[in-house]
Amino acid sequence: MKPLLGIFGGTFDPVHFGHLRTALDVKQALDMDQVRFLPNSIPPHREQPWLDMTTRKTLLEIALQDMPGFELDCRELEREGKSYMVDTLASLHEDFSDHHLCLILGMDAFAGLPLWYQWQRVLQLCHIVVIGRPGFDWPSSPELQALEGRRTSDAGELKRAEAGLILLQSVTQLDISASNIRKQLQAGRDIRYLLPEAVRLKLLEILNT
Ligand code: ATP
Repeated sequence: MKPLLGIFGGTFDPVHFGHLRTALDVKQALDMDQVRFLPNSIPPHREQPWLDMTTRKTLLEIALQDMPGFELDCRELEREGKSYMVDTLASLHEDFSDHHLCLILGMDAFAGLPLWYQWQRVLQLCHIVVIGRPGFDWPSSPELQALEGRRTSDAGELKRAEAGLILLQSVTQLDISASNIRKQLQAGRDIRYLLPEAVRLKLLEILNT
């Protein structure tokens, strides 16, 4: 029996309330000790970020600063080359051997899991907490259907088993995405109320310099 540590990876281009409220819902529902936010430097499965690494990190620092139990983890930014989650999890596993790791994935990100480098090893290193997202249903791919036997709805099981379980967690449904925020900014629209005000102000300051 070990306490749970949430791992929330992403591009955070920029961080918004869809990330923050989701992480808080998961942390509270599963009684996690903390949630670590891991911005990636070179995401292997998507186009490159719009905001540079330093800006994404600065905005995350602002977003997380007042929230106890939310931690910024920059190990992927500091590592050379592509950000493979399996390498990240192996390093987290070493650093937090007194916790069970729970990888938090939106339904869209979970659907892409079979495309990840060494994706089956991921389930040897952590549990997966899948979160519902507006517009995304449980994926129908044969690889993910084959994981059906690993599903649990009991948070206590995640504390008892070392790794390999999948839990579907419902969270506040917020139809907010970083791509929509970027689109609105590029169209000259106001992005207020989609992300923390201090993050919005810093982002505008950076874009205007
Ligand atoms: P983009 O629109 O650029 O693809 P995004 O808003 O999906 O970005 P990411 O940084 O790619 O943000 O996402 C990191 C993680 O957060 C992923 O697991 C993603 O599914 C999840 N996520 C992002 N937005 C939401 C949301 N509104 N509700 C639930 N999960 C979300």
